[in-house]
Amino acid sequence: MYLYKIKMRGSIAHHLENYKGDCSRVHGHTLEIVSTFDFPGVKEPENMAVDFKELKALLKEIIPDHLDLNEKYQCANPTAEFLAKVIFKQLEKAIEKKFPNLTVRAITVWESSDASCTYGE
Ligand SMILES: [Zn+2]
Repeated sequence: MYLYKIKMRGSIAHHLENYKGDCSRVHGHTLEIVSTFDFPGVKEPENMAVDFKELKALLKEIIPDHLDLNEKYQCANPTAEFLAKVIFKQLEKAIEKKFPNLTVRAITVWESSDASCTYGE
């Protein structure tokens, strides 16, 4: 089995309406989002399953950047947990069409350098 992991960054704003504390006020993060895919093997003679450039281009369409998450997702509490699942579901659909040889395994949203949430199925 092979695994691809692609790390992308997105600058976002959000606030948590159902939270008592600092995070109830609008603030920002530069998120690091790691997407993990598995695939059964590589094509020859390229010795790759997918070109990283193409995979990154697809991720760029899905991963929010310079957006307010509350607005984008019409969500009162767009947490790292929420975002990891939303990205997973969107990516699962997109990958099925564009790269059927890959399977999305997990999305990890790093909200800071020492705190992340992973969603996988
Ligand atoms: Zn936050």
